[in-house]
Amino acid sequence: MRRKRKKSFKIERLIIAIMLLACFILLVTWSMHYTTTAKANKIKSTVTKSNVKADKLQKNKKVEEIPKEEKSEVEEKTPTEIVISSVGDCTLGNDSKFAFKNSMPDVLAKNNKDYSYFFKNVADIFKADDITTANCETTFTDATKRADKQYTFKAPAAYAKAFSLGGIEAVNISNNHIYDYLQKGFQDTISALKQENVNFFGEGNQWVTDVKGVKVGYLGYMGFSYDNNFLNKLQNDIRAMKEKSQFVVINFHWGVENAYYPNSTQKYLAHYAIDQGADLIVGHHPHVIEGLERYNGKIIAYSMGNFCFGGNTNPSDKDTFILQLKLSFVDNQLKGYAVKVIPCSISSVNYINDYSPIVLSGENKQKVFDKLNKLSTNLAFSLNDEFNTLEKN
Ligand SMILES: [Zn+2]
Repeated sequence: MRRKRKKSFKIERLIIAIMLLACFILLVTWSMHYTTTAKANKIKSTVTKSNVKADKLQKNKKVEEIPKEEKSEVEEKTPTEIVISSVGDCTLGNDSKFAFKNSMPDVLAKNNKDYSYFFKNVADIFKADDITTANCETTFTDATKRADKQYTFKAPAAYAKAFSLGGIEAVNISNNHIYDYLQKGFQDTISALKQENVNFFGEGNQWVTDVKGVKVGYLGYMGFSYDNNFLNKLQNDIRAMKEKSQFVVINFHWGVENAYYPNSTQKYLAHYAIDQGADLIVGHHPHVIEGLERYNGKIIAYSMGNFCFGGNTNPSDKDTFILQLKLSFVDNQLKGYAVKVIPCSISSVNYINDYSPIVLSGENKQKVFDKLNKLSTNLAFSLNDEFNTLEKN
């Protein structure tokens, strides 16, 4: 009995010893594992920290560099600004059936045959801008054989001087009076314009001019109606012009006389031309002004009205305007497009047509602004004395 107890006591001690050994081994293994993980974690966190540091350094560097880059970009790319002006019907001539008294030749004779008389009140504006264009709605010819129609306009070739003396660099010749004295009258008109250094566009002619390195291209058409042939021609002409210029202006002679709102043909052609790449649409023929429209970030002036009009000794509506665009280009890309109108009267006196347009002021100016603002669509601003920047719509 006593031996038996002694034996069991021995076994108990052995079990305790084994358990203690096991505990020790466990403790050692755990402590070794802990040290390794902690070390690994430490290394990992150091690596992360150094990455953060590197990122931070890089960011600081970027923060320092950005203004430098922006600054140099601004310094290198100053926009090129140009101002272009457009006016409506300039009929520097008259119908030979008209009475001489108060006619254009009569008024010119009374002003010592000084051809600068016609544009003397607006020439400063035209000379200060980069380009001015008008619609030349007459012929310069001594031809006598005329077209069979109610009014046929002509003047001696010397009248073409008025354009160059007035600061008008180019004229549109696509209109319903350019063949008033048939093919001879047309050819004589072109010769007279060339003689007086007046550029021209329309009737198959294009004009591309370089202003401060920016090429501006002008096209002119009669747009009283259209068919597929005309639309295709327009598309091809605009695309070809886009290849050689950075800004494309189209003059359309269209619409209905004495109408204050454009008809569906005018609207269709204007939108179509802009969809094909035109940047400005200048319309004329109705003799009165029609509104402006902003379409896809571009301006359509549906009718500029008369400007210097030898076709009537006293039109009841003498309102007209100078349309000006201020354009900015960076790397030959159009970046800024702003528009302004300068309200004018076709005559410097209101009781008769003296064929010498003037800039309006005060109440008369405001009346034309109000009229144009009422007639215009989708402008997103009111026309006033300032250039208004066009946002795309
Ligand atoms: Zn016309």
